[in-house]
Amino acid sequence: MSPPGHSLEEDECGVAPTARRLTVSGRVQGVGFRPFVFRLAHRLGLRGSVRNESGTVAIFAQGAASALREFERALLQEAPPLAQPVVSASAAAELQPLESFAILPSSEDSPAHVHVPPDYFACDDCLRELRDPDNRRYGYPFINCTQCGPRYTLIRRLPYDRPNTTMAEFPLCPACREEYENPLDRRFHAEPVACPVCGPALHFVTPAGTDVHDSTALAQAVAALRAGRIVAVKGIGGYHLMCDARNDIAVARLRARKPRPHKPLAVMFPAHGADGLDAVRAAAELTPEHERWLRDPARPIVLVDKKTHAPLSPRLAPGLKEIGAMLPYSPLHHLLLRDFDGPLVATSANVSGEPVLTDNDEVDQRLRHVAEAYLHHNRPIQRPADDPVMRVIAGHARPLRHGRGNAPLELNLPFTLAEPVLAVGAHMKNTVALAWDDRVVVSPHIGDLDAPRSLAVFEQVIADLQALYGVRARAIFCDAHPVYVSSRWARRAGLPVFTVLHHYAHAAALAGEHPDAENWLAFAWDGVGYGADGTLWGGETLLGSPGRWRRIGSLRPFYLPGGEKAGREPWRSALSICWETGIEWKQCPEDPLLVHHAWQRRLNCPQTTSAGRLFDAAAALIGLNHRSSYEGQAPMMLEAACAGHDAEAVTLPMACNREGIYETDWAPLLPFLMDEKHSIAERASGFHASLVQGLVAQANAAREEHGELTVGLTGGVFQNRVLAEQALASLRRNGFDVRFAHQIPCNDAGISYGQIIEAKIQVSGF
Ligand SMILES: [Zn+2]
Ligand SMILES: [Zn+2]
Repeated sequence: MSPPGHSLEEDECGVAPTARRLTVSGRVQGVGFRPFVFRLAHRLGLRGSVRNESGTVAIFAQGAASALREFERALLQEAPPLAQPVVSASAAAELQPLESFAILPSSEDSPAHVHVPPDYFACDDCLRELRDPDNRRYGYPFINCTQCGPRYTLIRRLPYDRPNTTMAEFPLCPACREEYENPLDRRFHAEPVACPVCGPALHFVTPAGTDVHDSTALAQAVAALRAGRIVAVKGIGGYHLMCDARNDIAVARLRARKPRPHKPLAVMFPAHGADGLDAVRAAAELTPEHERWLRDPARPIVLVDKKTHAPLSPRLAPGLKEIGAMLPYSPLHHLLLRDFDGPLVATSANVSGEPVLTDNDEVDQRLRHVAEAYLHHNRPIQRPADDPVMRVIAGHARPLRHGRGNAPLELNLPFTLAEPVLAVGAHMKNTVALAWDDRVVVSPHIGDLDAPRSLAVFEQVIADLQALYGVRARAIFCDAHPVYVSSRWARRAGLPVFTVLHHYAHAAALAGEHPDAENWLAFAWDGVGYGADGTLWGGETLLGSPGRWRRIGSLRPFYLPGGEKAGREPWRSALSICWETGIEWKQCPEDPLLVHHAWQRRLNCPQTTSAGRLFDAAAALIGLNHRSSYEGQAPMMLEAACAGHDAEAVTLPMACNREGIYETDWAPLLPFLMDEKHSIAERASGFHASLVQGLVAQANAAREEHGELTVGLTGGVFQNRVLAEQALASLRRNGFDVRFAHQIPCNDAGISYGQIIEAKIQVSGF
């Protein structure tokens, strides 16, 4: 404690000091905000203190009034790039006898206020040092600071201190320790701080026996990529499989070996030009929204329209117009792309549908048949995080997948829960969500829950989220599908279980993002999900609000011969809708006899109203795709086939069925889709226009019956840009208020969040 008397009198300029107490909320923890406040106070000659307090930052500052005014201005305007500070309170305070400005220890955070930071991209300051031959971290692939570097993927437990991260096994060298402990240094308490002396290192190996470290490892990896090899590269949230994106033979080999015949492969472009986007621009058409998101701190994969003569292998996304582009985000990626100086395929190193692989030995074992070389490093990855994916739809980037850079996704709920709850999502593209009080945290993409590794990661993420946030769920929400792995897991967990219909969860996910809307008409269109009547829903029109949905419309039902198989074999759905309407499909590429037998007897032929399967059928009838090697392939190809065409809609009749549900009949589309007098583009775009017209007809009928409604478009089918944009435009022309997903994927990755939103009603009273 400083002797009283000194600082209360006058500051150095002879001006009477004043004091203020400030509370700063927003994103201010785990982003270097306190050291920033410290340095700012130091610069302005202020005395006082800063501390983390219940999710906010509390500041006491005293000094010249002009300095205090400058302090309040700079707090917002000069804040570190990752911080999003809001001054939520500022009041005059009594002067205190202080000698200096101090960072005080955090008060122990209650679960209500814990924040787990995501993994950050390499900041400009670190990149400058990375390129500076005189810097001691010149060319060091694990450079980071309080403003950048991994977080979520290396935190073992909270509080977020180095011994609680995977960096615990790297004791700081004296030079790093000095930076770490100096409040004026930009690496003050940068928990993953490292340098070539004390930090992680690269290791390059090939099956032929190459085994080198550090800069030689990097150089050899680049040489292997130049030679057309497939290299497994360890990054932040897992490994990528990389190869030269311009080298058609290399890409073909990667596809054959993985095997991944058609699914799009993401491309990492070198950061060229003033904004880093010149290399992407050479290959793709970018709008300002694309540019903004490519440069976003989460550094997501952004789907962009490929230029016709882009210098890229045509095999990156066969049958599609878009490619997934991203910029380098970790320092290792920056070095790799700079030295390689060209676009690299950067696809998650995983076994199909599973989460990305993170462990060096496991990669050696499980990707032996794919990778031809390995660029490892020895910083352990605590939990996987795939790259996030965004698509610009109707002028705004929408998330298709959350992962490294934006996970865990922390949001506020539009209500307060009495007890913490866990939502375990659906089955494909699974995520889980944990909610308590008025908070919800959505996990990164886990994957399809078929594989043992997916289930292991699913369980790890559930345990992790509860441990990190210090919250134990008291009830579980799962999909109503009785045999989903996630539903079975929920029933074994020993807690009260609540089931939510798949499409109710889709609708609720959208409603949760738009709490201002009350009377919803939600079109929940996707592949298939378990419906209230035991059939497979997927083209549903839901009226109401979270916890109070009523199905009032759907597409005309049909049967799915082969059940799940139909999802991978669009020709089955095509045959089925033909049989349903007594139309012959002469061009059917498969022998329909056995299938017809089963269809007639309804053997393994679940009934469905799926919009996704209808897209499958249309793609097959047009001749675009009969068998899919990845989920959504046929609809994606059908969308791409529209190629900007603006065909007339075929009018689809709508009638009320026996249960009083509007049914839109797709039957008039069949002769149109098979009519080769129309081009493929005409038929593909005519199909989209017809469904949009059918959707709008249902919306108009619902409005007539139920009054003003907010229309929501949700479910994986609305990842289709042509469909979503046309529906949005047409509904708006008809005077509807239309809502779409902003932060939560509209596909099954949003189901866990939707289940939480449904919890508002379902658990009241448990
Ligand atoms: Zn940095
Ligand atoms: Zn060091």
